[in-house]
Formats: sequence, structure tokens, C-alpha cells
Amino acid sequence: MQKVRKIVASGRALAALVLGISLVKVLVKRAFGVLTGLPLFLQNYGPDRLPPVTPDERSMMPKFSGCFACGRCDVGEAERIRKSRGAFPGVMGFVLASSRSMPDYDAAERALAFVDDAVLAAKEEICPAHVPISALARFVRAKAEEVGQVRVRQA
Ligand code: SF4
Repeated sequence: MQKVRKIVASGRALAALVLGISLVKVLVKRAFGVLTGLPLFLQNYGPDRLPPVTPDERSMMPKFSGCFACGRCDVGEAERIRKSRGAFPGVMGFVLASSRSMPDYDAAERALAFVDDAVLAAKEEICPAHVPISALARFVRAKAEEVGQVRVRQA
């Protein structure tokens, strides 16, 4: 009986093989006009109002998600929370909701209407996790605008 020899790739060789196969698949699909990459992402996630992130935004994500919910930034926020009638959950709620999983950018932007940038900058100063709260607010506003533009284009 003839022995069949198997070549088994593992580690980096396997990773390179898988990447190479994927690259060839994508190039073949593109050559035949099949949607790939960013256009495919937009087609898949656009209806869920999930915009893609830029490389710069991606590099900020680990810092955005550093909040460990200590509540320190919520000290003194009771009045703003009350006035917002549910739109503003406090700074901690804003940070957690905007930096985990798939944020609702529209809701986060609505929350930001109840707290000004100077307050956010002051909260950032006292945050023990050094969460860049002001940058997170800019990110959320930019994404809410992007989502709005997609909605306008779809209408
Ligand atoms: S102070 Fe910083 S770590 Fe604490 S809840 Fe606020 S954002 Fe999170």
C-alpha cells in the first residue's frame, strides 16, 4: 500500500498561506467586478448605520475603551442628567456607551448636547484611566455626521 505524505503548515507558514490564498481570492473577485473591501463593508454594515473607522481612529480605540467605570467623572453631573430627560446618561455612561461594541452614534451625539467641551476636558483631567474624553466626543460627532450623510444618500 502506498503511503500518502501530508504537508502540514503551521504557525507563520500557515498564516502566510491563508493570507496568500485570501489575497488571490480578492484579486480574482475584483477582476470580475465583485464587491470587496470598503465598498463591501459599506454594503453589509451601512444599513446598520455602522461606519468604517480610519486607521487614526482605530489607533485611538484602545484608549477610548480604557474606562473601568469608577464614576469619578459623574460627580456633579446630576443636574445635567436630570435636565436631559434621559438623553444624557452622565459622562461615564457616555464614555462606556461610545467605546464598547457598536455605539449608537446618534444617541451619543444627542447626549453630548447637554455637556460642553470645557466640562469634558475637565473630566478628562481627573480620569484615573486617562480616557481621552474630548477626543472621544470629537470621534462620536464625526461618526454621527458620517452616519447622517449615509442616511441622506440612501433616502
Ligand atoms: S473617570 Fe474615567 S475611568 Fe472613571 S468612569 Fe469616568 S471615564 Fe471611566
